[in-house]
Amino acid sequence: MIIGWFLISIIFTPVIALIFLIIADLPYRQKDRIEADLAKAKEAELENSRKSCPTCAQVVNFKTGEGLYHKEDEPWQMLCKGCDSVIDVTGDI
Ligand SMILES: [Zn+2]
Repeated sequence: MIIGWFLISIIFTPVIALIFLIIADLPYRQKDRIEADLAKAKEAELENSRKSCPTCAQVVNFKTGEGLYHKEDEPWQMLCKGCDSVIDVTGDI
């Protein structure tokens, strides 16, 4: 009888351990998924802040500064690299 229990425990212990491992691993996987979602959302936000210049249609991004520059003495005014026109970074371009 004791040998029987012993055999059963030898067979099932790895199975139980595996189940515990899977359960313990779940929050980590969820965390990974949440982090991936956050990264995706950030990327989408950057993509949304990407517009094209109304004058020359060059792609400008007022979050990353892509396609934009400003004068030394007027850092608040963003200018298009393509056509030097002023880009309104506060509203929709
Ligand atoms: Zn332009």
